[in-house]
Amino acid sequence: MTIGDFSRKSIILVGLLVPMLFWSFQLKDEVRGESLQSFYTIKAKRFLVKHDVIWDYVEINNRWIDIFASPDDKKNNIPECRLYWDEVGVFNTIVKKFRYEDAFATYKNKGTSRFDSLLIAQTSIIPTEKVIVNAKLPLAGKRIAIDPGHVGNDFQMGLIESRFVKMDLGDEKIEFSEAELTFATAYLLKDMLEAQGAEVILTRTSCNTSSLGISFSEWYKTRMDGDLIEAVNSGKISKEFADWLKNEASEAKVFQKFFQTLDWRERCKIINDFRPDLTLIIHYNADEENYTWSKPTTKNYNVAFVGGGYVKDELLKEEDRFQFLRQLVSTDIENSVKLSGSIVKCFENCLKVPTMTKKDESNSIKNFSLPTSQKGVYARNLALTRYILGPICYGESLLQDNIQECRALNKRDLDYPCGKTSSRVKDVATAYYKGIFEYLKINN
Ligand SMILES: [Zn+2]
Repeated sequence: MTIGDFSRKSIILVGLLVPMLFWSFQLKDEVRGESLQSFYTIKAKRFLVKHDVIWDYVEINNRWIDIFASPDDKKNNIPECRLYWDEVGVFNTIVKKFRYEDAFATYKNKGTSRFDSLLIAQTSIIPTEKVIVNAKLPLAGKRIAIDPGHVGNDFQMGLIESRFVKMDLGDEKIEFSEAELTFATAYLLKDMLEAQGAEVILTRTSCNTSSLGISFSEWYKTRMDGDLIEAVNSGKISKEFADWLKNEASEAKVFQKFFQTLDWRERCKIINDFRPDLTLIIHYNADEENYTWSKPTTKNYNVAFVGGGYVKDELLKEEDRFQFLRQLVSTDIENSVKLSGSIVKCFENCLKVPTMTKKDESNSIKNFSLPTSQKGVYARNLALTRYILGPICYGESLLQDNIQECRALNKRDLDYPCGKTSSRVKDVATAYYKGIFEYLKINN
């Protein structure tokens, strides 16, 4: 064999091997792509897509996920954002480590191009700071955010929010607002968690204020005009709508149609800026069919929500499409299901109240949510389940208008720094506390 023969044969061999290797890598990528396509399609159907029209905005194939701004853009194949399978890790790191606005800007600017190397390098250097107060305590190093639902600690505000129970049981007059219960629960729970070493924040820091730091009535008198002007200037609302809110709408309408969104967005901002390990959004439930809650019900159950369950028209805004993609490719929903599952079990055990079953499902649950693998935990697209990053539990413990619960909640037999609350509220705080420990046990 001459050197010439050897070289020729080598060239032929290399010529054969290189395309074979390339073909095998390509095949591997395709197989990997197909399994990712199948995994995320199943996940989307299971947790995120309640109405099939949502698929008019999304395409999952063996090479990437495309998000479209409109059904027409999908028909014309003009994606707003293309995430290649090998970019999922970088995208998740960007959402986790960047400021919220910067992560959203990255989505907005991406189009069909790949993340550039400068951006990828940045994702490995931004540190997450943690304050460890007492390393020996079991929750040392854990950051927990708590959102006490609603704003109306007094009954008048409860009326404006339409979140109150007022009834005459003959031997007892019942009167409380849901916000009074959620704030006391959050406050008691914060104390318990801090005693175990956790760093905890509340989105409302005093019982009579919203997350904006003032009450709704103060805001109505002092800040409404300025906030309306700002909302018009930034294109969030029309001038006509602002004028209607200012000149014609009742206080309750201003609350529902404008203030509530300001308050929700501020809650999400406070929580996302804190970068918690987990977030609890605290609410108490009421029987939907018993509205106006002026007589008691015998029903009672617990339920919790996580993100997902998108219905028609819920991907009209770019930010919501960004959140959809984040929820699809991160493990936030899966972790939220685990956290909420642990908490719902502790509600049942500590409160001796059953978990919601299929027969208890209200119309809003049937129409706007998807069941998960955990009993009593549903994927539902609420402002606070959509915009808060990381594991969340949106808890709806017991029915406030239940015949026994309304008496227990009306007792106000427990002193706490904001006044008086009920020992039943303490039971609910304890259930959340135990649920967090359960979750951390299974998730660490
Ligand atoms: Zn509520």
